[in-house]
Amino acid sequence: MARYIGPVCRLCRREGMKLFLKGERCYTEKCAIERRNLPPGQHGKLRKAKLVGYGLQLREKQKVKRIYGVLENQFRRYFEVADRTRGITGETLLQLLERRLDNVVYRLGLGTSRAQARQLVLHGHFLINGRKVDVPSYQVKAGDVLTVRASSAQTAAIQHALEEVKGRGVPEWLSFDPAQMTGRVASLPTRAQINLPVQEQLIVELYSK
Ligand code: SF4
Repeated sequence: MARYIGPVCRLCRREGMKLFLKGERCYTEKCAIERRNLPPGQHGKLRKAKLVGYGLQLREKQKVKRIYGVLENQFRRYFEVADRTRGITGETLLQLLERRLDNVVYRLGLGTSRAQARQLVLHGHFLINGRKVDVPSYQVKAGDVLTVRASSAQTAAIQHALEEVKGRGVPEWLSFDPAQMTGRVASLPTRAQINLPVQEQLIVELYSK
């Protein structure tokens, strides 16, 4: 599937906030938002107009898409599923994105960024309930057990990530046992447990036009 392969700090600068797309660099003073929080491009300084209406809704959608690393068509499919599901559409949309396997690997601290987690999943380093799953968009369910394959436990990228993100913590809906290299989905994430500064209702309004 196609991926965005351009400079990712540019995406953060476009949204005017940290999207945490680059792993450990995002937590240092080298972060582009820390150094120069201006929209990208030659005229970035001039484009500080206050957004309203459609512009605001569009930016919110772009922000969420970029955080989870999904492209437009896939994002719209998530929205369509959320829209058909009983409950609050915006919250269901975030829950579907949060349940992606690459996101779970990232949240467990096995990857420094979602992009790296996605790569690790594609390389087949993880088992779900004892079976190899190498599909980043795989939706985890409550009760699922994720294990790092025995042959992958010493993989440099995984060991490096575990060391780097030690202080980040694991969200309440997940648990991780570093000795067994095993994570568990205790429950599906609630909105309160999804720590994202986004207004998902604006995305619903955008797609409902
Ligand atoms: Fe965004 Fe991370 Fe780059 Fe900072 S370092 S601008 S948070 S991707």
